[in-house]
Amino acid sequence: MKQLFAIFGNPVSHSKSPLMHNLSFQGLGYEACYARHLLEDGTKLKETFFNLKLKGVNITVPHKEHAYNACDVLDTFAQKIGVVNTIVEKEGKLYGYNTDAPGFLKAISEFKNANHVLFLGAGGTAQSTSSILRDEGYEVTLLNRSAARLEKYKKDGFQTYTFDNFIPKAYDLVINMTSAGLEDDSLPAPKALLESVIPQAKACIDVIYGKETPFLKLAKSYNKPTKDGSDMLLYQGIIAFEYFTDHAYTFDEIKPHMEKAFIL
Ligand code: NDP
Repeated sequence: MKQLFAIFGNPVSHSKSPLMHNLSFQGLGYEACYARHLLEDGTKLKETFFNLKLKGVNITVPHKEHAYNACDVLDTFAQKIGVVNTIVEKEGKLYGYNTDAPGFLKAISEFKNANHVLFLGAGGTAQSTSSILRDEGYEVTLLNRSAARLEKYKKDGFQTYTFDNFIPKAYDLVINMTSAGLEDDSLPAPKALLESVIPQAKACIDVIYGKETPFLKLAKSYNKPTKDGSDMLLYQGIIAFEYFTDHAYTFDEIKPHMEKAFIL
């Protein structure tokens, strides 16, 4: 019988994941289909998963913590960060993984000798990616609009700043981890503050994809190399596909099929 996969989120209509995964299933001849499901109540995630007779799901905003709670078994990294974006059902049990963080790590691997990283933002995406970057030897500093979200990072030993107490230094990569610029024209931090770090950066990166954000525009005005969030999206999808298909295909076998979603 054909396996069924889906993405759960709210909103979910904009998601590229169905196209990415369906192109890959089709291209590789794997008997499966991937749909989207608007999940309003995150506490119903497990119930919904079984009602829809799914084999696996990706989870997007705002349910990644609910996804963590819904799992019976967590891999070591998902357990550590408390955020799950990929679930696979095996013998009636839900197994949870986080593929955003390794996807992001791979996306920035093209920037060599870039160990000092400044994150603009301290939300859910920053949480998983800061953890994996530190595990890989990067030194991550976080700068956030509000102090509240920085508390847990401080406890975990990260250097943190708000706009008021920021002390600029040389960062190799400056990365927008906020949603500033996603649906508006705002910068993730005051312009003067960004202009105190961009000139020294080797590159500027945004996790937002599919548009040139005001942050990347500003970085380009300083002739900096830039990168948006498309590769992160692609790579988290490929890693999720590996879990969905129980590693029947390698990353490089999946990639040419899934990346077609970005030209369609
Ligand atoms: P969260 O809601 O968890 O966190 C939002 C963060 O952005 C907070 O730090 C918040 O600061 C900050 N913020 C929001 N608006 C502004 C603003 N106008 N100015 C300054 N700071 C602002 O979001 P997520 O971590 O889930 O998502 C962040 C971004 O990552 C989104 O744009 C999302 O689309 C993108 N993303 C991309 C992926 C990809 O594959 N490319 C995967 C996952 C996410 P405060 O604490 O002060 O509110």
